[in-house]
Amino acid sequence: IYILGIESSCDDTAASIIYNGRILSNVIANQKIHEAYGGVVPELASRAHQQNIVPVVHQALEKAGITKNELHAIAFTKGPGLMGSLLVGTSFAKSLAYGLNIPLIDVNHMQGHILAHYIDEDGYNKPPFPFLAMTISGGHTQIVKVDHYFDMTVIGETIDDAVGEAFDKSGKILGLGYPAGPEIDKRAALGNPKAFKFTKPKVDGLNFSFSGFKTAVLYFIQREVKANPNFIEENLNDICASIQYTIIGILMDKLKLASKQTGIKNIAIGGGVSANSGIRKALKDGEQKFGWTTYIPKFEFTTDNAAMIAIVGYLKFLEGDFAEQNVVASARLKI
Ligand code: ATP
Ligand code: FE
Repeated sequence: IYILGIESSCDDTAASIIYNGRILSNVIANQKIHEAYGGVVPELASRAHQQNIVPVVHQALEKAGITKNELHAIAFTKGPGLMGSLLVGTSFAKSLAYGLNIPLIDVNHMQGHILAHYIDEDGYNKPPFPFLAMTISGGHTQIVKVDHYFDMTVIGETIDDAVGEAFDKSGKILGLGYPAGPEIDKRAALGNPKAFKFTKPKVDGLNFSFSGFKTAVLYFIQREVKANPNFIEENLNDICASIQYTIIGILMDKLKLASKQTGIKNIAIGGGVSANSGIRKALKDGEQKFGWTTYIPKFEFTTDNAAMIAIVGYLKFLEGDFAEQNVVASARLKI
């Protein structure tokens, strides 16, 4: 079964072909234009998707070595995401499926981040049910109990900012480029994680909060820079290491609690922040410390990609779960 997956929920235009769960191609066009603005500008994102979508899909087919007439279905991201961005992928997928007279499959982007673990990849195991998935990305921070592919329950989530924003906004305060997550990760490896202390927010249960953390970083930096204008340059690696250490602590505390409350020890991570080397190590350490079996995605499936949309499309195809031609994008789609 050949499935074309299309992802356009934020600022990456992506297309992927998978054949019976194995990737044949996985193409992404990043939109550099947003860097100058320090964040994604929705109008510009939508326009760039319109320019990218045809060549990106064309390239995905070409790399896979198939023609569009061989496709069995088209899967696309229905939401959540930026409406203007989602509309481009949704409209394109609908027209192509209509033109080819093949089924259309709508995909929830956050389910994609979780089910990316079911892409057939040598050396990677698929999590058995039930498992806990912590999805940590630019717009979400969730702990999801996964009983089956499409039987998922969010048991904890952020009440304000997402963890990716905590990285990116802290980076902005430090004068780093956007998105700052990857650079904080790199610098953290060179710094002392205990150089500076940030208090962790107190949130009951399995929910998260990151807006107070961002403010704490801001006030800390403002205070230190007042005393020493070169504070940031002189301590950048230590600051990054301390920020990352605190964020990982917040995530791991909740994950431990979730595992304890549910009794589930199969633990997966997904989403852009799961590319972070510190969080990957902390999770792996959980195998020894808590008897977990952990599932850490291949780097290319952490940040937004279309392979994760195509694999959900494949799983839905097997269940005969198709979308109608009048399906619409949904910016706030829930799991
Ligand atoms: P969502 O999936 O919630 O709709 P999104 O699609 O915009 O949001 P992703 O592409 O999944 O988000 O993730 C992007 C986020 O991942 C950014 O905030 C970025 O800083 C962060 N990120 C990427 N790599 C790393 C890293 N190595 N360490 C920390 N954060 C990272
Ligand atoms: Fe995402």
